Amino acid sequence: LVQIFIKHICGWTEEGPKKGLFGKPAAYYGTVEEQGRKTLHLHFLLWISGQLPLNTIRERLMSEDSEFQKELTEYIESCFMGEFMTGSKEEVSARVPFIPEFEDRGIHTILVDDSNVPEGYQDPTLTMPEAPPSEFCEEPEMCRCQNCLDLLSWWERFKMTVDDILIRSNGCINKQGVCTARFPREIIMNTSVDPKTGHMSIKKREATINDVCPTVSLTNRCNTDTQCLLSGTSVKAIVGYVTDYITKGWLKTHQVFSAAYDTFNK
Ligand SMILES: [Zn+2]
Ligand SMILES: [Zn+2]
Repeated sequence: LVQIFIKHICGWTEEGPKKGLFGKPAAYYGTVEEQGRKTLHLHFLLWISGQLPLNTIRERLMSEDSEFQKELTEYIESCFMGEFMTGSKEEVSARVPFIPEFEDRGIHTILVDDSNVPEGYQDPTLTMPEAPPSEFCEEPEMCRCQNCLDLLSWWERFKMTVDDILIRSNGCINKQGVCTARFPREIIMNTSVDPKTGHMSIKKREATINDVCPTVSLTNRCNTDTQCLLSGTSVKAIVGYVTDYITKGWLKTHQVFSAAYDTFNK
């Protein structure tokens, strides 16, 4: 699964780096962690080629270069979103059918009431992603050919499925009803830049979900989190955090530094 992710989502192929979901990759670094309950999950850093040094980005944001700011905002907002695709959390919750889990107790199994689950509905965290039609025209929105109509209906299902996965997987309330993931977060209606510091506040319209890349959610069909690291401090913090997973317990200090050194040289 990780190799498929690296090749098809990130664009790191056998023939070298190709344009992936976030651009052409320059380097990547990731580790798989095992949680206490034995589930595996991936922490992954991706460097994009053509990326300006972070201090240059900051300077250009502070110089109020509006074209640069516009293009950077468009790029970042194309990488992830902090809201649902088809409506508010309340609307998505109301739409997504809830199938109660049942315990198999043989003849004593309690019958599950699934009368409000639409015929043919499947929980998307238990199914494979649906590929878009392979052929369509230049401007599918304008066209009425069968391929373009299929594409547009695929896109509607894409958005509904992403929201369904988000509402099921990106929750945060534990059994005691307490939020475990720093929610609610601050709502930011539009991306903006503070010209005094060059700090960018990125659009975030839903306080109770983390930021996600819709295509990553759709293809992985589980809880995901996507962030754009725009400061040296956050890059170093994440490198440290990710490195920690491969250095827990048995590695000596010089090996920890060597792993971090190799990462910065990549
Ligand atoms: Zn067409
Ligand atoms: Zn929470």
